[in-house]
Amino acid sequence: MIVCKFGGTSVADADAIGRVIDIIVSKREQQPVVIVSALGGATNQLLDIAHKAANGELLVAVQIIEQLRDRHLREAATLLAGTPDADEVAHDISVTFDELAHLAEAFRTLGYLTPRSLDTVAAIGELLSSQIVAAAFRQRGFPGVYVDARDVMRTNDFFTKAEPDTDGIASAAQQRIIPLLQQGKIPVMGGFVGATGSRVTTTLGRGGSDYSASLIGAAIEATAIEIWTDVDGMLTADPRIIPAARLIERISFDEAAELAAFGAKVLHPATIAPAVQLGIPVFVFNSRRPEGKGTMIAFDAPRLPVRAIAGKRSATMVKLRSSRMLLAPGFLRRVFEVFERHRTSVDVVTTSEVSVSVTLDDTHNLAAILQDLAEFGDVSVERRSGVLAIVGAGISDGGAALAQAIAALGPIPVRMASLSATGINFTLVVDDEQVVPAMQRLHAAFFEGGAT
Ligand code: ADP
Ligand code: ASP
Ligand code: MG
Repeated sequence: MIVCKFGGTSVADADAIGRVIDIIVSKREQQPVVIVSALGGATNQLLDIAHKAANGELLVAVQIIEQLRDRHLREAATLLAGTPDADEVAHDISVTFDELAHLAEAFRTLGYLTPRSLDTVAAIGELLSSQIVAAAFRQRGFPGVYVDARDVMRTNDFFTKAEPDTDGIASAAQQRIIPLLQQGKIPVMGGFVGATGSRVTTTLGRGGSDYSASLIGAAIEATAIEIWTDVDGMLTADPRIIPAARLIERISFDEAAELAAFGAKVLHPATIAPAVQLGIPVFVFNSRRPEGKGTMIAFDAPRLPVRAIAGKRSATMVKLRSSRMLLAPGFLRRVFEVFERHRTSVDVVTTSEVSVSVTLDDTHNLAAILQDLAEFGDVSVERRSGVLAIVGAGISDGGAALAQAIAALGPIPVRMASLSATGINFTLVVDDEQVVPAMQRLHAAFFEGGAT
């Protein structure tokens, strides 16, 4: 059994869905479970509809609803014309968008959105794409079966970032997915979407379809998880920023997890964990070039000083200076409890005898965090920061790579630097607008023979 997940661009339209079917059909003896994202861009549009409606822009919201309805109907009609499924799928699409139009009116009247209502809206993309893809398999003569993600992906009720109940998912997968595979069927399920024990719709957070794939892979003890996307695999940097980025053929789980957490959007940061725990390899392939080698993410990989670099902009640096720190055991624990209390995770951390500096991605609760931290000492904030991650299992072997990284940055000022204790990630905080030039310099130094 394998799990194959197709991202938004890989199911963007009828042609792309046709390629998905070809890929899956070539793997039938491996008993694939198919997980799909929403049609490319649909999730953004769905969330936009909800926000516009709650802001009183109902007409604009309705226009986007009609665009999305037309797009789904058009792609479904292209794929399913003349099949017994065509009318039923078209009917489901129309009913869904009628309901969305009613919801939009309700949001306009209320003037606000709740995380729970946002999840109900965001989930529509995957619930529809999975029905369309399952029917498209049948149109081509293969036994695709739609599986409602809400029947399998049990989560808690942390709407918009729900956490999976892995035992619940494992038993639901045994009941709903395994029998289909045993009967030679091709289960097709939406990623990203889940439901609470009382079946209220939830989502796993943006980019969460990768996470769904990995959770299902763990639940059915798959032999492999394949992430099919729009690039050849994991590359030495984001190719949108560094066109010269190169394919990584094999990368360790730890390295991939670090890269994902530091901006390599190709994989959702949490994706790796359920797979790592069971030692299931994860592959990344390009759905437009299925013959490519792709990347294998495995327990280990040949040790290199630098495997890849990642960068993310729009980070916020918080610095706390406190003369009490030196004397007080348990001080750091109390400082980090503040972030925990406000459900905010910390990225890069550095400490000295009198200060602690951290970077944050999520600043929703920043005001409350700053207020609580002020009890410990002087707090300052630099919003326009960015984080670079230079990742490689051998990054600290002998120190040459660390020196090379600093040298490569040349005149770009480094605001914070941290080498992880596992010696796998050297993170540097720079000013936000320096992230791209810094990545260009680092990539040139490590992967392009030193040219800048
Ligand atoms: P999907 O819709 O298939 O989930 P995403 O857009 O979430 O695709 O992720 C794929 C994108 O990740 C690529 O188009 C690429 O721009 C970006 N990306 C960022 N860092 C990397 C990297 N190191 N290697 C490959 N792709 C990367
Ligand atoms: N469609 C969702 C998103 O855009 C989930 C995913 O594609 O992974 O965030
Ligand atoms: Mg993605």
